Amino acid sequence: MLIIGNGRMVTRDEETPFYENGAVAVDADRIVRTGETEELKAAYPKAEFIDAKGGVIMPGLINTHEHIYSAMARGLSINGYNPKGFLDVLDGMWWTIDRALDNRQTRMSAKATYLDCIKNGVTTVFDHHASYGEIRDSLFTIADVAEEFGVRSCLCYEVSDREGPDKMKEAVRENEAFIRHALKDQSGMTAGMMGMHAAFTLSDSSIAFCMEHKPKEAGCHIHVAEGIDDLYDSLQNHGKRIIDRLMDLEVLGPKTITAHCIYINSHEMDVLKETDTSVVHNPESNMGNAVGCPPTMEIVRRGILTGLGTDGYTHDMIESYKTANILHKHHTCNPNAAWTEVPKMLFYNNAAIANRYFEKPLGVLKEGAAADIIVADYIPLTPMDASNVNSHILFGMNGRSVVTTVINGCVVMKDRRLISIDEEKVMYECRQEAERLWNTINGWR
Ligand SMILES: [Zn+2]
Repeated sequence: MLIIGNGRMVTRDEETPFYENGAVAVDADRIVRTGETEELKAAYPKAEFIDAKGGVIMPGLINTHEHIYSAMARGLSINGYNPKGFLDVLDGMWWTIDRALDNRQTRMSAKATYLDCIKNGVTTVFDHHASYGEIRDSLFTIADVAEEFGVRSCLCYEVSDREGPDKMKEAVRENEAFIRHALKDQSGMTAGMMGMHAAFTLSDSSIAFCMEHKPKEAGCHIHVAEGIDDLYDSLQNHGKRIIDRLMDLEVLGPKTITAHCIYINSHEMDVLKETDTSVVHNPESNMGNAVGCPPTMEIVRRGILTGLGTDGYTHDMIESYKTANILHKHHTCNPNAAWTEVPKMLFYNNAAIANRYFEKPLGVLKEGAAADIIVADYIPLTPMDASNVNSHILFGMNGRSVVTTVINGCVVMKDRRLISIDEEKVMYECRQEAERLWNTINGWR
């Protein structure tokens, strides 16, 4: 038994959303009780006690669109890389990296990324992976690290025609093998999806090949209209808009995640809503790639399940939360925009998306929920209660405010000390592999 207490506690449970001095009791991988600190200490006198020291106790954060493969891009300078648009960014940077990645580098990318997730209080990750340098076993390699570091993960490989038909098929088979493996897993820590890059790098027959090989329990994870060229391709080569094309190819549904959705129209939103397909917004990445601002407020208003990701830009969900908040105020010229939509995306919708793959309730501190709990060392300078916790998080915290991370009942970081990960060694090995990757890439130039 474990109790995390002596902090202001934000539960995301409607019945008791906030405790001034709250605690959460954990037995194995589940929460068994929430309440006042003294009450829980009295109820479970023998439990190990983690003292939040007056900080904020809340559910672990969830990232619904992440890219482990991008880890080694940090600080990389590719000879001749000078993008004029989004396609240049994809081809010149991301496809160049994933064309070179082998499983050793994938493993170190996963270690570095998961380590940063833990330090930022991210306890569940939906990753979208590409490593055309070595496809086979790449998802199993990431899953190894997820298990070793204890991070709940839903993985997929991004199928694309961009490296030719053989590699496209190998990517589909990697997804299929991993989904089947994850479906047999009893830990509640692993899930798989059929990953696809984007409609414009996939022919109809390749998407059909994905769907033939996708076990029925899983959905798809695909980039949609991240750039205007994706829409042009769909209109010019297929005579229909992207969401209509995906609808016709039976990609959409409650288990499918469409990332970005920047260039979708009202009709496409209706189709997403009717099929109960999720959308994930990645504000920093969209801004960095200069691809435009998605109509996220309208997508949320229509009741489409819309989550928040980082797209590999960072691993800090609070940074993504802050950016989404100001992006949509700025974009709609409305200082009142995003106050309710963006917190809903991060704190509720990401959990709803994740629970389409993981059985135990996530993103909530209540009896029976998964024991994914974080503590932030945030002491409010103004009164804090259930009505204003989201503002306190928005203006007062960042990912590195998180000092303690518990995932599935395991304490993986306590008072900023990683419990069973040798951070120095991981970072040293990651730098070695990054150097090898960089030399490969610039050796091609
Ligand atoms: Zn992405």
